[in-house]
Amino acid sequence: MLNDLVLVLNFGSSSLKFAILNPDTERKYVFGLVERLYLSYSFVTWYYQRFKYHTIIGNNISHIQSLEFIINHIFYINKKIVCNIQFIGHRVVHGGKKITESKIINSCIIQEIENNIIYAPLHNPINLLGIKSAIKYFPHLSKKNVAVFDTSFFRDMPETSYLYALPYSFYIKYGVRRYGAHGMSHYYVSKIASEILKIQFDTFNVITCHLGNGSSVSVIVNGICVDTSMGFTPMEGLVMGTRSGDLDPAIIFFMHMVLGMTIDEIQHILIKKSGILGLSGGVTSDFRYIEKNYYREIASKRSVDIFCHRLSKYIASYTTLLDGRLDAIIFTGGIGENSILVRQLTMIKLFMIGIRLDMQLNQCLQPGQYGFINKKDTTPVLVIPTNEELIIAQETVKCFR
Ligand code: AMP
Repeated sequence: MLNDLVLVLNFGSSSLKFAILNPDTERKYVFGLVERLYLSYSFVTWYYQRFKYHTIIGNNISHIQSLEFIINHIFYINKKIVCNIQFIGHRVVHGGKKITESKIINSCIIQEIENNIIYAPLHNPINLLGIKSAIKYFPHLSKKNVAVFDTSFFRDMPETSYLYALPYSFYIKYGVRRYGAHGMSHYYVSKIASEILKIQFDTFNVITCHLGNGSSVSVIVNGICVDTSMGFTPMEGLVMGTRSGDLDPAIIFFMHMVLGMTIDEIQHILIKKSGILGLSGGVTSDFRYIEKNYYREIASKRSVDIFCHRLSKYIASYTTLLDGRLDAIIFTGGIGENSILVRQLTMIKLFMIGIRLDMQLNQCLQPGQYGFINKKDTTPVLVIPTNEELIIAQETVKCFR
């Protein structure tokens, strides 16, 4: 069915994801990911008619150059599919205090996304670039673009979760609160898990772990997200590829007052040089490497151990919000879906709350497949490949129907 196809664009800080799909049948016609933007050997991995392709685009390729490559070399192969694109859906990380649902893009929405750059300085400007490029390259669809916000999923969190213990006026006057991120992924995997477990979503209690370059964990009670590890910006919470996650704010004063670093330098360290990259001694932010070297290199072991320590602390603490019943824990994202070691080390730490790992199920799970990794008759622990593109596409058409 080639009606109502949606082009989904996800302009990330150093990558670009794209897909053309039918939100009703859930069929993806073509999809892929451009990586290593602004670095040597920028490349695209894409899937078309069940085949996987891998093409090096060039060196130091920008988002715009990537999009041009996708349009001219990948979409060109099947013009019929491209001609049937009716809508374009964009992932936008931060909707701020005012936007709590998906919006058809117009000048007011663009302005509001711009206003929210203060909350997501790495992400919102790039998301805007995606929106403006789509309007330029697909002018006939200029009124059919939709922004789908990562923060929307967290709009019903109680103030006990979203408020920081700062002067209350910071929230009222400046919107300083916890907003969350990866909302589409947490929503998608929790929905799928409720279907697999045959539990109605509005009675479903689940803890979802989205573990990738950016990582976050959320707790959903009766189908509503009641807390999440990401905060005012996507810097808070778990250890990430290059972001520190939770930190004593006094370290920032120390870096400034004792080490003499400027605010820009501190921001650069906390966003680009910390996390797995920092813990591994600057070796890599790529989890594949540190997982492979866990038993060989002390720095790799340290990085994985700290990652799992913080993750298990969050999961255990979230059980206090569950009203006495945990229906499932879910792992997703590049690390959650693929790292046997992270799932194993984290689940072992959760023994006290009744989590029991089935080593064999954990090891035998095929990449891209969903499955259970818990022992029989214990709390279900599932690995579910995320599908943010599908949520973006479904939200996009919903705005027009
Ligand atoms: P994402 O941001 O969800 O695309 O996830 C990216 C992260 O997943 C990177 O740190 C990758 O190294 C990690 N990753 C991808 N594949 C694997 C794998 N097979 N084993 C361990 N980590 C992986």
